[in-house]
Amino acid sequence: MQTQTDLHLETLAVHAGVSADPHTGAVMTPIYQTSTYAQEDVAVHKGYEYSRTDNPTRTALQMALAALEGGRYALAFASGMAAIDTVLRLIKPGEHVLSGNDVYGGTFRLFDKVLSAYGIAFSFVDTTDVTAVAAAMQPNTKLVWLETPTNPMLRISDIAAIAQIAHARGAWLGVDNTFASPALQRPLTLGADIVVHSTTKYIGGHSDVVGGAVVMQDTAVYERLKFLQNAIGAVPGPMDCFLTLRGIKTLALRMRQHSHNARQIAHFLADHPAVAAVIYPGLDDHPQYELAQRQMSAPGGMISFILHGGETAARQVARATNLFTLAESLGGVESLIELPAPMTHASVSDSPLAVDPGLVRLSVGIEHAPDLLADLAQALAQVS
Ligand SMILES: *Cc1c(COP(=O)(O)O)cnc(C)c1O
Repeated sequence: MQTQTDLHLETLAVHAGVSADPHTGAVMTPIYQTSTYAQEDVAVHKGYEYSRTDNPTRTALQMALAALEGGRYALAFASGMAAIDTVLRLIKPGEHVLSGNDVYGGTFRLFDKVLSAYGIAFSFVDTTDVTAVAAAMQPNTKLVWLETPTNPMLRISDIAAIAQIAHARGAWLGVDNTFASPALQRPLTLGADIVVHSTTKYIGGHSDVVGGAVVMQDTAVYERLKFLQNAIGAVPGPMDCFLTLRGIKTLALRMRQHSHNARQIAHFLADHPAVAAVIYPGLDDHPQYELAQRQMSAPGGMISFILHGGETAARQVARATNLFTLAESLGGVESLIELPAPMTHASVSDSPLAVDPGLVRLSVGIEHAPDLLADLAQALAQVS
């Protein structure tokens, strides 16, 4: 096989991590539904001894994830939150983490309500403002943590610039790349040290599995996290690894269609009389439009908007769509609609992350764009 760095994402998505099974020729990596492995002699084995430590289906997934992000190593976890929690075990009591102030609600909850009780200091800053990030660095800052685009405000942060700030102060930069996926943005190539994913979203892509991943370049960081993956044990089962690996094969195709559909919907919403504001990194009135153009190969499939009729109209529209299912989560092939304030972001309603109660978020799927536009048109007609 060619070295994987020569290959493009579409090709990597299909081939990375997967090779024909040596025993049967099976083209897909089998679901190694086993907890343990026969040893040839005492402590002599083929690299697998117990499935918390390693499992061949998970190995295939981890190799694919590393290749997609342009990283040397990847580790798979039972959920995105398990991946983030394990990364945070790199931080010791007395050390400081500088986090974006618009991170995923579950991440904020983990930092603010769980890990801060173990002596780790957190502060939250607007990472779209590079100067504010530099000013918020402390002598004990060990990790800078950001999401770009953020959820649900779709703010974009400059990964390369913030990597420089972090590195100048001896800190790592960790980027949650869930919203972009490696098909649109590869933070490691921009200087980030650690990338995490909720593979539940675009990477899995079919709303049928929960999972997480960490991807990195540095061998020492990998060895520590590999130790922690086994020591803590928040690992995915082989069936989940198989489903995620299967999802990955169409990642490039799916992301193209998500972006294609979302662009059309964003323009449609921007021109609609019932809509007060549209937030989409592909619209030229987005505050970080230029940066998004530079940093991402396409603006992705997530759109947020506000209606003139506020929360009442938002609730009406969310109930009125047919193709857009009213549901939490994102990144699957099917289009979803939700109100972040009472749904995905309910846990942060009394925090600095609280969002406008009238905000509507779309996860635009891969259906035929005119069908989606017609569905939104009929729903918006009810509040116009
Ligand atoms: C969903 C999500 C997570 C959490 O992942 P789970 O798989 O639900 O544990 C973390 N970050 C972002 C940006 C997410 O969207």
